[in-house]
Amino acid sequence: MTDRRSLQTALIHSDYRAPDGFGALPQAIHHASTVLFENVAAMRARNWQDKSGYTYGLHGTPTTFTLEARLAEIEDGRHCVLAPSGLAAIAMVDFAFLKTGDDVLLPDNVYSPSRELANWLRQDFGITVRYYDPMVGAGIAALIRPETRLIWTEAPGSVSMEVPDLPAICQAAHEKGVLVALDNTWAAGLALRAFDLGVDIVMQALTKYQSGGSDVLMGAVITRDRALNERLEMAHMRLGFGVGPDDAYLVLRSLPTMKLRFEAHDAAARKVAAWLKERPEIAAVLHPAFADCPGHAHWQRDFSGAGGLFSVLFDPQYAEAQTDRFVDGLKLFRIGFSWGGVHSLAVPYRMQGMRANWSHAGQLVRLNIGLEESDDLIADLEQALRLL
Ligand SMILES: *Cc1c(COP(=O)(O)O)cnc(C)c1O
Repeated sequence: MTDRRSLQTALIHSDYRAPDGFGALPQAIHHASTVLFENVAAMRARNWQDKSGYTYGLHGTPTTFTLEARLAEIEDGRHCVLAPSGLAAIAMVDFAFLKTGDDVLLPDNVYSPSRELANWLRQDFGITVRYYDPMVGAGIAALIRPETRLIWTEAPGSVSMEVPDLPAICQAAHEKGVLVALDNTWAAGLALRAFDLGVDIVMQALTKYQSGGSDVLMGAVITRDRALNERLEMAHMRLGFGVGPDDAYLVLRSLPTMKLRFEAHDAAARKVAAWLKERPEIAAVLHPAFADCPGHAHWQRDFSGAGGLFSVLFDPQYAEAQTDRFVDGLKLFRIGFSWGGVHSLAVPYRMQGMRANWSHAGQLVRLNIGLEESDDLIADLEQALRLL
């Protein structure tokens, strides 16, 4: 798509056409559960899966079809299926491609609710679930078993931010006929060309940059392969993962500014991270563009930018009560989950319980850099660091 026109232009000029005689720019919001057919023959002929027409609200409306097409274009994929949250999109992938007796590999730094879901699949659905070191690279080959069907990747991984060697993992997986799914939420489909690196299935939490408003929960799964998309559509239908048109519209409304917002988040986050790097209280800045971050070389090779989310490790001399005081003392940074919105956020994480192998002694705090003036954010961090 980017060879036809720049992504920024494509984000503004959608293929959407308003009804004749009504030259409005925004996409219309279509509400429907029931969709009417002209006659029985038309009803019987309608195929809900190929999106050539409308069958039932659950299977899509002009509003959700438009959003799916635009997300596929951003990611340079061909097909897209929406889900009511990022976690629902992850569940759709798991249910589409795993069955009892299968084996799935997840990185040890996977988004925690995805781990929770996988452990449920292991406990109650007879699926083998194993966690691998996110820096395993080509070494993943040794972990693949005849029953392995799917390898999840996340770039970078949640909270601890390691950047995996995606081409090496994809190559090893494909040599053994295993699918690779990527949680590409951090790069938003803008800073990483996942399909070009060999990824088969791309998942996005649209809750983050695509919405940008801290007001929508939504997810998407994008593929280039029609057969993979058909399995995702079957899972979507069987699970009943409908998405409301008003929420779909909120995301459509935000997409034209997504790239500009993303670039502003990136620039501000790197400025704030560089300032933190110089502070004696901070032992390491876990931001993929910084050398402290495991997998920094993979980020340099594979990414064209960075998101606004990163973590810092405090010097081990500071106990949890002290770093909690730092987070409580922040005035512009608010305390709350999720990210990708205009407000800066801070969350302390207890890493020992979250990872199989976590060797750092210092406290970890994750920062979402919003769109406030970065000098104001730095001043806020500086006054809160004094409370340590
Ligand atoms: C937020 C997030 C999700 C889940 O998105 P929800 O819409 O909150 O369910 C999945 N993966 C990553 C990396 C996320 O940050």
